[in-house]
Amino acid sequence: MATIKLTFPDGAVKEYEAGVKPIDVANQISKSLAKKSVSAKLDGHYVGMHDEIKHGGAFQLITTADAEAGDILRHSASHLLAQALKRLPKFAEMHFGVGPYIENGFYYDTDNGAGNQVSVEDFPEIEAMMHKIVKEDLPILSRKISRDEALKMFANDPYKIELIEDLPADEPITIAIQGDHIELDKGGLVPSTGWIKHFKLISVAGSYWRGKSDNPVMQRIYGTAFWKDSDLEADLQRRAEAKERDHRTIGRDLDLFFTSQEVGSGLPVWLPNGATIRRQVERYIVDKELENDYLHVYTPVLSNLNLYKTSGHWDHYRDDMFPPMDMGDGEFLELRPMNCPSHIMVYKHKPRSYRDLPMRIAELGMMHRYEKSGALTGLSRVREMTLNDGHTFVEPEKLEEEFKSILQMMMGVYEDFNITDYRFRLSYRDPENTDKYFDDDEMWEKSQAQLKRAMDDLKLDYYEAEGEAAFYGPKLDVQTKTALGGEETLSTIQLDFLLPDRFNLTYVGEDGQDNHRPVMLHRGIVGTMERFTAYLIEMYKGAFPTWLAPLQVQIIPVNLGAHGQYARKVQKQLQAAGLRAHVETKDAKMGYLIREAQTNKIPYTLVLGDDEIEGQTVTVRQYGQDQTKTMSLADFEGQVVADVSNYSRE
Ligand code: ATP
Ligand code: ZN
Repeated sequence: MATIKLTFPDGAVKEYEAGVKPIDVANQISKSLAKKSVSAKLDGHYVGMHDEIKHGGAFQLITTADAEAGDILRHSASHLLAQALKRLPKFAEMHFGVGPYIENGFYYDTDNGAGNQVSVEDFPEIEAMMHKIVKEDLPILSRKISRDEALKMFANDPYKIELIEDLPADEPITIAIQGDHIELDKGGLVPSTGWIKHFKLISVAGSYWRGKSDNPVMQRIYGTAFWKDSDLEADLQRRAEAKERDHRTIGRDLDLFFTSQEVGSGLPVWLPNGATIRRQVERYIVDKELENDYLHVYTPVLSNLNLYKTSGHWDHYRDDMFPPMDMGDGEFLELRPMNCPSHIMVYKHKPRSYRDLPMRIAELGMMHRYEKSGALTGLSRVREMTLNDGHTFVEPEKLEEEFKSILQMMMGVYEDFNITDYRFRLSYRDPENTDKYFDDDEMWEKSQAQLKRAMDDLKLDYYEAEGEAAFYGPKLDVQTKTALGGEETLSTIQLDFLLPDRFNLTYVGEDGQDNHRPVMLHRGIVGTMERFTAYLIEMYKGAFPTWLAPLQVQIIPVNLGAHGQYARKVQKQLQAAGLRAHVETKDAKMGYLIREAQTNKIPYTLVLGDDEIEGQTVTVRQYGQDQTKTMSLADFEGQVVADVSNYSRE
């Protein structure tokens, strides 16, 4: 019998008979190790616990204590899901795409053709079948097969056939067998179905086969699995909280905005409550910019297509732009995807002198981008958006100074909004894919280095990302997390040596010559109103600080007839102080109305009855507090006004 040598992670080398199984190797070391070994690796490739080891090499057992074991468990759970689906008569004809593990979960892409579509109502039945298969404790074995065998074996599975055909000719094909179920699979699976005990199906969503929008839409079924029930419970709890925090959920509950197919995908409608938050943000940022010498303008959302040909958007950004509109008279109009060319036109409108610089042009600029329908999300990724945009035209030697001052302004704004959880990303061009960017190696090297130097000077932490630059230059992005766990750019500052060239921008220098070239900085401090509002909703979980709250004071008269008039007087006085106050006229029980004000997360609720009229006072309940306080109307007004001007919520 041939022998093989296995080298363990600690360097020990042991000899075994060829064909030994990882489970035997583990058992020889200790029973307890065998019990918690999930899978093994030979020279970095997975070997199942019950598969034969044919040759020697670096050998490692993966136990439930290893993080990788979680991936193995969730990967196995996706197979378990597929097997269960196939056993249910209504899904027996289902076709399967891919079923990988993902962070803290797994999914399987499925296609039941014209048959029953999977819905969450089916989950209990599917989970019950999964549990049944777990009880059967079917061993999971892997086997190498030839390409011809594979094509025959999966002849009824068009997606699998496509996957097999896409494999390079020399790539070995392996399958995983668990009872009556066979998967095309590279390995990394638990020893038997009995290992998968604590799992749950989570959701189902449409998704294009291989993520390409001209491919068929499949049903992606998501689930998760853990070694311990308590970990599963904790994860489900986290998911429930994330959902509760999701700006789409809160947006619906608090009547902030809606999106609908009737209006069009990615085109949110701002309801009065959401519009109020947005208006506050807009007023705030415009005032802040005026204080910082920005010149605010209004420019059209539609422009002559030639503008975007000159800028280079048409060559480098066309995939994100809507098709041009033929006006029939030789003119083509384009919905702008960015506001830069418009602001460049403002600069170009008159000769400029070095004395005018830095010239800061700003606008709440509406723009349109052709985002893929699969990427659209509530307010955070839309097709029509309004950017708090600004473009600074500056002498080249003042570029870093201007960059730093924008950054300082941005951090001041973040403080006012209480935003603390973010990371700076320096976004460079992708050196492997340079045709997406303007072709000027020297410019890229220089401006990327300049950006980095400015950040180092300011001693700010950042990370670097290739392939995230704008086509005209590198940028500093502020990255934040969404409730769903994804990362998004909230604010951005971008360096640009190119558009000034493309548009032949000049200024008169101290030498009196009108041939000096300014540099441009693009920046969005609060980014788009859409994404920023989505961010605020999730950050505050809908409990906005008073200055942003759609309604600041809810006034509830104990009895509308007897106390309505006083309630209106209080409302008028608060409104005159610039506050948003509303008198509740609904005919409902007091307790209900107070609870409703809390559910709507209104910062202040006033209850007004006989005593309050007599003393010209108000009885106040603050959001999230149980006690009430009675005070004079003037004191209350003073308190709320102070609260508003402090920005943050106590
Ligand atoms: P992303 O990588 O998120 O698509 P981008 O890098 O293309 O964004 P920029 O051109 O830098 O974005 O746009 C400026 C700002 O516009 C971004 O910081 C972001 O806040 C916002 N933004 C971009 N695309 C969208 C969108 N589809 N919906 C809402 N806001 C957006
Ligand atoms: Zn710009």
